[in-house]
Amino acid sequence: MINDELKVLVVEDSPVVLKVLNHLLSQNPKFVPVLCACYEEAKAKIENASMTFFAAIVDLHLPDAENGEIVDLVLSHQIPCVVLTGNFDDYQRLNLLNKGVLDYITKDSRYSFNHVIKVIDRLRKNQDVKVLVAEDSSTSRLFIKILLEQYRFKVVEAEDGREALAKLEEDHSIRMLITDYNMPHINGYDLVRMLRHNTRFQDLVIIGLSSEGDSSLSAKFIKAGANDFLKKPFYHEEFNCRVVHNLESQEMLETIRELANIDSLTRLKNRRYLFDDGEKMFRKAMPNASFAMLDLDHFKKVNDTYGHVVGDALLQAIGQEVLAHFPNLLACRFGGEEFCVAADESVESLMPKLEAFMDSIRVKEFTEAKIHVTFSIGVCGGEFSSLDDAIRIADDNLYRAKRLGRDRIVTD
Ligand code: GH3
Ligand code: MG
Ligand code: MG
Ligand code: MG
Repeated sequence: MINDELKVLVVEDSPVVLKVLNHLLSQNPKFVPVLCACYEEAKAKIENASMTFFAAIVDLHLPDAENGEIVDLVLSHQIPCVVLTGNFDDYQRLNLLNKGVLDYITKDSRYSFNHVIKVIDRLRKNQDVKVLVAEDSSTSRLFIKILLEQYRFKVVEAEDGREALAKLEEDHSIRMLITDYNMPHINGYDLVRMLRHNTRFQDLVIIGLSSEGDSSLSAKFIKAGANDFLKKPFYHEEFNCRVVHNLESQEMLETIRELANIDSLTRLKNRRYLFDDGEKMFRKAMPNASFAMLDLDHFKKVNDTYGHVVGDALLQAIGQEVLAHFPNLLACRFGGEEFCVAADESVESLMPKLEAFMDSIRVKEFTEAKIHVTFSIGVCGGEFSSLDDAIRIADDNLYRAKRLGRDRIVTD
């Protein structure tokens, strides 16, 4: 769980830079910038026991500490540290990264400051990301664990492929696997292949570790389904780049999938999802499946009377009702003011749930305008050959319900 408020220490003698960083950090309500103009001020803040810092952004050259002393101070208090500097110096950069500094950024453009914020924000997100390290060498495992923890990831360990598989099966919150190749019981390559054969692990980010001697290993890992690989020994900056890059690709994929399957207004599954995953579920359950089409009565009047904003709020509230009444069934927004329920159970089981839904809707008031609504429902539970067929029959019954005066359920 992410803390509500994260204090970020900023130590910088240039008032302009301090102001820019303060502005950029403040754009994210989770961050609380704590600004210091010199070493002594920062020292007092760090040593103040009531303050816990999530991360620090520090200038290497301060008027009262010209040789980067601030870095040692911050790191000695286990605060993740990003260094800002006026000039690029390869030797110094390497030296600082080896000390455990997260990043070394030159203040040469406004993009540099955006990059600093990106690093800090990634750190925030990492707190919620659990990574499994599968590696039989305890030294190498510890090294990777320390690197990951520096970037605030949550780390779980496994000594071999079999233990890794067991941990992944038991803990669904693991988002990434970093795996060695040579391990007892199950090697890294077989582990990746096994995982990719299971649809449950299709979103797991997998990074293989290959040793320098065997260049075919990296290709082998990728072919088995790994997202990326790292050659041992690796440099920790490269390690972080690959980890973050793969994680971000995965997050983007999740966003795209969500946008494709979820209706943005009601947060219910959408029509596309119904015809894709819903179709599969329905086919598997047939003939013991049923379908209901639910249409709000006279919804147009709500829009005409109260406006579209209230109409939207009503649809949102109704969406939550639909979700709550059919918890283990596939409830979707079919479109407009039409919802549907695809059930992998008989119409005899579905009917009482639909009736309970109708009863509950009739007595409730929705939105601040205290609107009363009713539904007409068409059900299909008898003979049908596909989801399309069931939808057509339910739709016919829905129109019968409308013609018969609305506020009722019609089944075949
Ligand atoms: P009936 O009882 O016959 O179903 O009447 P109705 O008014 O509910 O049905 P009709 O199909 O005539 O009108 C549906 C209305 O729903 C028209 C459309 O503008 C509105 N609508 C569809 N999608 C949305 C939406 O996302 N937000 C809002 N506010 N209105 C929507
Ligand atoms: Mg090994
Ligand atoms: Mg309607
Ligand atoms: Mg309609």
